[in-house]
Formats: sequence, C-alpha cells, structure tokens
Amino acid sequence: MIKKVLIANRGEIALRVIKTCKALGIKTVAVYSDEDYNSLHVKHANEAYHIGKAAPKESYLNQEKIMQVILASGADAVHPGYGFLSENSDFAKLCEDNKVNFIGPTSESMDLCGDKMRCKSAMLKAKIPTIPGSPDLVKDVEEALNIANKIGYPVLLKSVYGGGGRGIRLVTNDKELRDAYDTVTGESIAAFGKSAMLVEKFLEKIRHIEYQLARDKHGNAVHIFERECSIQRRNQKLIEQTPSPAVDQKTREKIGELVVKAAEAVGYTNLGTAEFLRADNGEFYFIEINARLQVEHPITELVSGLDLVKLQIDIANGEPIPFQQKDLRMNGYAIECRINAEDTFLDFAPSTGPVPDVSIPSGPGVRCDTYLYSGCTVSPYYDSLMAKLCTWGQSFEESRTRMLNALDDFYIQGVETSIPLYKTILKTDEYKKGNLSTDFLKRYGIIEKLEKDIKDEKSANKESALAAAIMHSEYLKSRVKNSSNSSSSWKNKLG
Ligand code: ADP
Ligand code: ADP
Ligand code: MG
Repeated sequence: MIKKVLIANRGEIALRVIKTCKALGIKTVAVYSDEDYNSLHVKHANEAYHIGKAAPKESYLNQEKIMQVILASGADAVHPGYGFLSENSDFAKLCEDNKVNFIGPTSESMDLCGDKMRCKSAMLKAKIPTIPGSPDLVKDVEEALNIANKIGYPVLLKSVYGGGGRGIRLVTNDKELRDAYDTVTGESIAAFGKSAMLVEKFLEKIRHIEYQLARDKHGNAVHIFERECSIQRRNQKLIEQTPSPAVDQKTREKIGELVVKAAEAVGYTNLGTAEFLRADNGEFYFIEINARLQVEHPITELVSGLDLVKLQIDIANGEPIPFQQKDLRMNGYAIECRINAEDTFLDFAPSTGPVPDVSIPSGPGVRCDTYLYSGCTVSPYYDSLMAKLCTWGQSFEESRTRMLNALDDFYIQGVETSIPLYKTILKTDEYKKGNLSTDFLKRYGIIEKLEKDIKDEKSANKESALAAAIMHSEYLKSRVKNSSNSSSSWKNKLG
C-alpha cells in the first residue's frame, strides 16, 4: 500500500495531487528548482527537496536526481503529473527497476502509447478507425511526397514523438512539404530528443473529442465519458467541456466500447485518455492515447463525482476498479478554461513576472486549481498555465454563466492572461449553440471580436466611472455634513 508519494512536478498539478494524498492520509514529498523555493507546492507537502537550477533539464527533467530524492525520502511511489517526465518511459522504467510504484501505466505500455505510429498500428489491428495516412514511418522526404500525393493534400507532417501541439505541420503542396520536412524533424529533435515522421490526411472542420479511460491490473476497464476540447489555438487546448454537444448517449456508448478495446490493445493500466477527431460527417478517428492524468481531468470529476487521482492511486495499489461501467452516471455540465499567462495581442507570447495581488473566484459550482497567491511569481522557465478554472451546472447554460461570472471575478495583477479571450468566446452564439471545431478562433474571427469587446468595455467603464465619481463626491460631501452633525450631538451628550 502506498504510504508516501513523491510528486515529480510543480505548479497547480503538484498541488492537485497533494490534495488527494492528504485526503487519503498519504504523506507527500515535493521537489523544487531554484525558481520554485517560494511555491505553494513546497509549502503544502510534508517534505520538500531542492533538485537543481530553474531550467527543466536541470531539475524537473533530471531523472537521476529525482530518483535520489525518492530513495532518500523513503517515498514508495511517484506521481508524475502531466508534462515533464509524465510520459517518459525511461523514467517509468527507472522506477520499476528501483521498486518504486509509478502511478501510471507500465513503461512498456507507455513506450507504445508514446509512439504515435506504433500506437496507430495497434489500433488498426484492433479494428479501431484511425486517420488515413502512411502505413508506417516515412523514411525520407521522397517517401513523404509519394504518400501525400496518394492520399491527397492537405496533409499533416507529424513527429511520432510530438506532444502539446508541437511537432505537427500542415502542408498543402509538394513545395511546402519539402520545405517543412527538415523543420519538423529539427523541432522534434529539439523538443523530444529524437525524430521519426508520419504523414496523415488533414481533416477539416473537426472536433477534438477524447475519452477518460481507466484499466486496472486485473484487466477491468471502463470509460468515464467524453470531453470535448475543440477550442484550441495551434493544436493546443484552451477550453474544454463535458458532455460534448456532438455526442448523444448511443454514440457515447459506441465510442466508449472502442476506448475500452483501445486500452486492451496497448496493455494499458491506470488512467489515460484516448483522443479522437470527429469529422463533420460524424465519423470518429482515433489519434492517440495520453498515458497520464490530463490537464482537463477536473471536468470529468465534476460530472462523475469521482476523484480521479484517488482512482489512480487505488489502481497503482493493485486494487480492482471499485465500480462497473453500468454504475457510472453523468451528472450535469462542466467547463474548464485554461488560464494562461500570455498576451493575446502579442501573438500569445508568455507574460511573466511578479503577481503582487490576486483574487481567486469561488461560489456554487466553481472550482479553481491554481498555484497563484498574492506575492507569487509567474516564471518564464515553465508552462504558461496558471490555473484551471472549472464550473459545473445542472444545465449547460448554468455552467456557462457561472464561468462568465468566475472569469469576471478572477483578478490577477502583474501579468497578461487569456481571461478576456475566454469571455469573448463564451459569449458567442456559436459557442452557446455548441458549434465547435478546432479552427473555432479563425472560423468565427474571435480575435477581432475580442478587440471590439475590449473597446466596448473601456467606453462602458469610462461612463460608469464618471457616474460613480459623481455619486462618490456626493457621498463624501454628505459624510462631512453628517460627521459635523454627529460630533455636535456627541458634544451635546458629553456636555
Ligand atoms: P492535455 O492533453 O492534458 O490537454 P497537453 O497536450 O496540453 O495536455 O499537455 C499538457 C502539458 O504537458 C503541457 O504543459 C505541455 O506543454 C506538456 N507536454 C505535453 N506533451 C509533452 C511532451 N511530449 N514533452 C514535454 N511536455 C509535454
Ligand atoms: P499532440 O500530441 O500534440 O497532442 P495530437 O495528434 O493529439 O498531437 O493532435 C493535436 C491536435 O492537432 C488535435 O487536437 C487537432 O486539433 C490537430 N490534429 C491532429 N491530427 C489532425 C488531423 N489529421 N487533421 C486535422 N487536425 C489534426
Ligand atoms: Mg494530443
């Protein structure tokens, strides 16, 4: 049984994992870089160890150092969160070799999921539809050209090791493909240390719909419904919701069965996510399995009532999943906005630095997972995600309204954020009607709408500020008058 967990991560996800461990009476060990000495995860864990300099390679990606701390602290398990080492099968293997319980799949299964080509082949074998493309890795640019011409442009060049929207390029003709080939190879080597390429048909007007899956060490598997993550920018998710407006109960069950088959096909254990693209004609195509806890897992928690980190720990302990598919019910509607520190108007460039003051939204149906506190710093060394703001409602409209109000209430001083962008998106008719697609921002001219919203808000603020200033000066005048009255009455009493 797991008694002490080292969390090999930082920021909001380290805090999220600590919360469940505390609830279960499990001791926690935090690790931190030079940059994170004052971070909340360091304060909230039972123990904390310094592991190196700010650059991830020298701290949160330093496997040997982290293993040293695991052994020195007596932790019997490690939770990798998302990003960093979470999908690094060498690290999972290092844990296995040292008899440390890695809270995630086996290194072997992770290795298979981490290679988009091998995973795709496993799915084809299991008769799960995948996107048409190269039947195997492409050897060189000539082979890529051949395949692209066979399946027809536009196509995507994808590094099989890609992740977080990196290592993907859209090309529409031979020239673009020739030009992009070396760039994507270089990008993949820079980000993931290696490169191998596949070519895939580029689907237009698609939705990104993924399924939460869980499979225990005894072979029991369930899906915990879908999440729609179509609001993206450059293949990175911004807003997620569940249920998906494009999935009815029959489809939910049909694709859910495929998800369970997919988990079996790669010998998956613990929690993971099977990602699909849904074409405009309603067809679903498998794209990949993310072998870890997903950023957007809280919306699944909100509609299922489950604690997914607890489920991860139970499965890592060798326990069977304590429920069956038929026991799961979807209750209500949940939305997540990824609150990023970035400047929408500077091409989404990271915005970093001190945050002297912050006010975190709360209220019925509002959940905010964040590392922010007044006086903290947003570091340039790490991911721009500052908070996962989630709302739940009995109806979609209740959830959406709660989100709009929560976004209004969220005050973060010192850095630019994606909050104004999300307000604009949530107010569009297209979003309200559930007309989602991965090109939503471009398709509906969201940035232009945002510019207009900001202008309107500024002029509305000016008018109300003027009205408020007039009333405030009246109030001040009346206070002066009243205070002279009251002091005289006091004087009378005292006198
Ligand atoms: P999710 O699928 O959970 O929504 P993302 O794809 O947005 O996750 O990635 C989650 C986090 O992990 C992001 O911070 C992203 O930068 C990081 N990430 C994802 N894949 C990789 C990878 N292969 N290597 C390093 N970081 C990654
Ligand atoms: P990552 O590992 O970076 O998450 P994915 O393969 O999961 O990469 O794709 C990320 C996003 O890229 C998808 O959500 C989708 O928006 C887009 N995408 C991926 N494959 C295709 C495709 N064949 N056609 C169109 N868009 C795609
Ligand atoms: Mg993906």
